[in-house]
Amino acid sequence: MTAPFDYPTAPPVRRHGPLGYTDYESYRTWLRDEFAFRCVYCLLRERWVPGGFDLDHFRPIAIHPEKATDYDNLLYCCSTCNSAKRQQIIPDPIQHFSGESVIVNGDGLLIASTTEAKFIIEQLGLNRKRYQEFRQVWLKIVEILTSHPTAVSEVLRYPSDLPDLSTLRPPGGNRKPEGIEQSFHRRRERGELPDTY
Ligand SMILES: [Zn+2]
Repeated sequence: MTAPFDYPTAPPVRRHGPLGYTDYESYRTWLRDEFAFRCVYCLLRERWVPGGFDLDHFRPIAIHPEKATDYDNLLYCCSTCNSAKRQQIIPDPIQHFSGESVIVNGDGLLIASTTEAKFIIEQLGLNRKRYQEFRQVWLKIVEILTSHPTAVSEVLRYPSDLPDLSTLRPPGGNRKPEGIEQSFHRRRERGELPDTY
């Protein structure tokens, strides 16, 4: 069964390396694909958040202005998590929010096994009541829907507008052109993309 809140099995390596945009918003399309259309912190999906997503500067611009348009400093996250993170310096969620260090309990609570993951959960309030209840509700919905495969596909499918990264031309080039072959759009073209995730 596809689980709605599974962090990546192991810390992922970034697949994309666009360069040269002078406005960090221009990296958004790459970041959507990089982070699988989910919030890197709480795993909310684009399709569950009609208000849209933010781009978080992992190292805050106020402290590291030179990283304002550094792709590797940008994270894709929901507005709630971005507001909670603010200018804080926290451990890197890509490294510390994997299935090796965080699991989602059946009651919706995040259970962390490392100091870094616990710190991020605490600083962003990821276990506060409304988050916990939200996860609990979705876990229950997916459990109920497992006997209705078509409904599960509708609820846990990828967005319809998977971006075709091969059409983009970053001004400074692309450090990792091979990553485009691993993009969700390409995987769907090759028939490799599962119905749900
Ligand atoms: Zn979030």
